[in-house]
Amino acid sequence: MNLRTPGPTPCPPEILAALGRQMIDHRGPEAAAMITRLTAALQRAFQTRNDVVIVTASGTGGLEAAVANVISPGDKVLSVSIGVFGDRFAAIARAYGAEVMSLSSEPGHAADPGAVAEALAADPSIRAVLVTHNETSTSVTNPLADIARVVRESRDRDGSPLLLVDAVSSMASIPVLVDEWGLDVVVSGSQKGWMVPPGLAFLSISARAWKANARCTSPRYYFDAARHRDAAAKGQTPWTPALSLFFALDVALEMLEREGWDNVFSRHARVAEFTRRGVQELGLELLADQRFASNTVTAVRAPEGVDVSALRKLLRDEHGVVLAGGQGPLAGKIVRIGHLGLVAESDISEALSALGSALASLGFRPPARV
Ligand code: PLP
Repeated sequence: MNLRTPGPTPCPPEILAALGRQMIDHRGPEAAAMITRLTAALQRAFQTRNDVVIVTASGTGGLEAAVANVISPGDKVLSVSIGVFGDRFAAIARAYGAEVMSLSSEPGHAADPGAVAEALAADPSIRAVLVTHNETSTSVTNPLADIARVVRESRDRDGSPLLLVDAVSSMASIPVLVDEWGLDVVVSGSQKGWMVPPGLAFLSISARAWKANARCTSPRYYFDAARHRDAAAKGQTPWTPALSLFFALDVALEMLEREGWDNVFSRHARVAEFTRRGVQELGLELLADQRFASNTVTAVRAPEGVDVSALRKLLRDEHGVVLAGGQGPLAGKIVRIGHLGLVAESDISEALSALGSALASLGFRPPARV
């Protein structure tokens, strides 16, 4: 199968082999060396000197950990949402008792840093800003450097507001400059560009965020970041880690570092451009505002009269190509092509030629070119 969903992504054979390794003592020296090595490699990937912790959870667990550790009941939070995953981040903050104000955009559009600056200026009591770097549901990458700048410029002497970033589908594929941009809590998930199966979330936590953590009154136990940090200092995790996924991550980080992060980022940019061009050559329309097109996923509008579930079924059954559908308000309106992690132009060529044939057999005729 050519798995072209925006996560889980295909795992290379070296990583699949690591998943089959025998268990080890998770409190022993071998695990300690591995956890120390992984933590340092993740800091390099996140381009940060901040603490980085690994939790056994999917990306959503990572987002919940971010909220539970720095946002207290009653805190005012600005949610900058451009899709389903932005809305989810806000829903988690609401579940923890935050007073959430929302700044949202139409599907396919990026957030406007000017509007974020205005919202922050209008209410200096906002304690945190939540933003999705790469909105997987619409294939849009927010201008995070600019959003981070306006948040930095609005910070008071207490370090408020904090900037919490969902980088689940960007980190490891698109540059995220955690220290340079002053990002306080940044979350990613193993099943995306990392080429590891689902089940691990990574969080970087700034000194400002640790101060908020010390004051934070939200209940937390499994996701208590301080316990994770203190355990990591001893080469451990507070609870039994998903060791097989740790083995896989160890191999993945070695492979990614061998390729070189700059090469990884430029490969993603190149393959994304190749995807967008190919989609347009099929006579199809892209959903995203192309100034903010994502380098990890491409959303394609379903042509008038084409049933998306029939299209996806045909692609899977007849061509061995798996694409994702739309989520929330975009269900039935788009298909999404994932191009992150283990991906090259040849995977996309195959997916696009299958897409062209499947559409043709469903009666789609591309508009004549002018
Ligand atoms: N945030 C973004 C941007 C995502 O793409 C995803 C997963 O698709 C998540 C959060 C949620 O992660 P998970 O499904 O691993 O809980």
